[in-house]
Amino acid sequence: MQLYINGEWKDSSNKEILNKYSPDTGKLLGTFPAGTKNDVDEAIDAAEDAFDSWSDLGTPERAKILYKAADLIKQNRNELEMLLKNEGGKIKAEAHDEVDGVIDQILYYAEFERKLTGNIVEGSNSKRKIFQYKVPYGIVVAITPWNFPAAMVARKLAPALLTGNTVVLKPSSDTPLASEWIVKKFVEAGIPKGVLNLVTGKGSEIGDYIVEHRKISLITMTGSTSTGQKIMQKASNNMAKLILELGGKAPFIVWKDADIKRALKCMTWAKYLNAGQSCIAAERLYIHEDIYDSFMQKFLEVTKRIKMGNPDSSDLGPLINKGALDGIKKVVEDARESGYNILAGGKTPDLEPAYKNGYFYEPTIIENVNQTSPLFQEEIFGPVIGTEKISTTEELFHKANDSKYGLASYLFTEDPELMLEASEKIRFGEVYINMPGPEASQGYHTGFRLTGQAGEGSIYGINEYLKLKNVYTDYSKGNITINTVRDSLFDDL
Ligand code: NAD
Repeated sequence: MQLYINGEWKDSSNKEILNKYSPDTGKLLGTFPAGTKNDVDEAIDAAEDAFDSWSDLGTPERAKILYKAADLIKQNRNELEMLLKNEGGKIKAEAHDEVDGVIDQILYYAEFERKLTGNIVEGSNSKRKIFQYKVPYGIVVAITPWNFPAAMVARKLAPALLTGNTVVLKPSSDTPLASEWIVKKFVEAGIPKGVLNLVTGKGSEIGDYIVEHRKISLITMTGSTSTGQKIMQKASNNMAKLILELGGKAPFIVWKDADIKRALKCMTWAKYLNAGQSCIAAERLYIHEDIYDSFMQKFLEVTKRIKMGNPDSSDLGPLINKGALDGIKKVVEDARESGYNILAGGKTPDLEPAYKNGYFYEPTIIENVNQTSPLFQEEIFGPVIGTEKISTTEELFHKANDSKYGLASYLFTEDPELMLEASEKIRFGEVYINMPGPEASQGYHTGFRLTGQAGEGSIYGINEYLKLKNVYTDYSKGNITINTVRDSLFDDL
C-alpha cells in the first residue's frame, strides 16, 4: 500500500516499511509505509492549501462526493469485507455488519447536506443582530483504532468532510489497508486533491508529531485512554479542539426478572463481538443472585458451543496481534494466581493446522470477581469476562458506576420502574436496556469519565466539526452612543 498526499499515491519519504501479520494465521500479510515527519508536513500543507476551495464549495456539493463514495463502497463491498477478515481478524458476519455500518455512516452524514443551520440572535436594540455562523475548523487530524478499522474511519471522514474541513487520516498500524481502500473510494468519487490525505506509520512517532502540529485545528481520535491522554497534553500546543472516544468497561446487568434467553443472546453478542475487542464490550457481568445459577449454567453451555478458526464458519475471531494475545494470557494467569475460579476457557484453543498460529484465545469466564480486582477495573479487551452476584438495586448502581470508564452499559429487566431509574442513575454515555448495541448513527456516541471528550453521531456529532463564529452587526446610521466614550470628544468633526 501507499500514502495518499496532495492527490498522489506515494511511498514514505525515507522508503521505510512496516509489516502486517494476519491475526488468523500469524503469517505475513503485506507491508505498508512507515510515514515520516516530512510526509506529515506535506500532508498538512496539502490540507491547508485545499481548505479554502473545499470549504467554499457548499455543503450540497460536498455531499455529492459522500453519496458517490457510499455508492462505490456498496458496489464493491465484498473487497472491503475480505480486507476486514484478513487484516482485522473479523468473522464473516462481523465484516458484513461493519461494511453496512460504513455505508450507513456516510449516507447518514451526507443527508445533512441541506439541514445545517446557524442562528441570528437579537442584539441590544432592533438594529443590532448577532449572526452565529457554523464554520469548519480547518485541518482535521483523524486518528483511528484497529478494532473497527473501516467504521471508525467512515465515522470521522464523513462529518469532517461534509462540514468543509480538510483531513489528514492516520489509521492504526494494525489495520492500514481498510483505510487505504476507503480513501481510494473517496478519490474515485471525486474528492479534490489535498482535501483528504492518508499517512500511515507508528502512532508513537508520527502520531505524536501530527497532534502537536501548529497548523491543525481539530483532532478526532478513537483509541485507548492512555493514548488519548497523551494527545490531550500535546494538543495544548495548538489548542486543537478534541473529540476523544476512548476506553470502556461496560457492566452487563441481568436482573432477577430478566428474560434470560434474551439476556444471554445479547450477552453473547456484547462479549464475543470482535473477540471482545470492542469499546462497548461487556466486561463485567453482574447477575441477580436469584437467577445466577440458571443463567451461568446456560452461559457456560453457550460458551462451550462457540467455534473458532475459519472466519467464514466460526463464531469468535482471533485477537488482533501477538501482543494482544500475550496480554490476554497474562490477565488470565494473574486471575489464576489470585485464586479465581476459571469456569471456562483459560487457554488457547486447539485448532486445525491453518489457524494454529493465529492469535486465538478460548472464551473465558472467571467467577466471583471482586469489585476492586483489575478484572473489574481495567479494560480487558478480549474474550474474557468476570462475573459477580448482586442482590439489591443499591448494589447494582454502585457497582455499575464504580469504574473509571463510562461508555456503554447494559441492563436486562422487565421492571419499568427499574428501567427508568437506571436510565438516570447509570452514569454511562450509553445505557442499552433489553437490547444489544452497537450505537446508531443517529445516536450520540459519548462517554463519561476517562472514556473521553465530545462524541460522534447525530446532529450533536456533526456540530463537533463546526466552530460557532459570531458576527456582530449594527444597521443603524448616524451617531452611535458609547457610554465610556465622551460625545464632546468628537464635536466639530
Ligand atoms: P491505541 O490508543 O493504541 O491507538 C489508537 C490510534 O492512536 C492508532 O492509530 C495509533 O497509531 C495512534 N497513536 C498511538 N500513539 C499515539 C500518539 N502518541 N499520538 C498520536 N496517535 C497515537 O488504541 P487501539 O489499540 O488501536 O484501540 C483500542 C482502544 O480503542 C481500546 O481502548 C478501545 O476501548 C478504544 N476504542 C474506543 C472506541 C470508542 O468509541 N470510545 C471505539 C473503538 C475503540
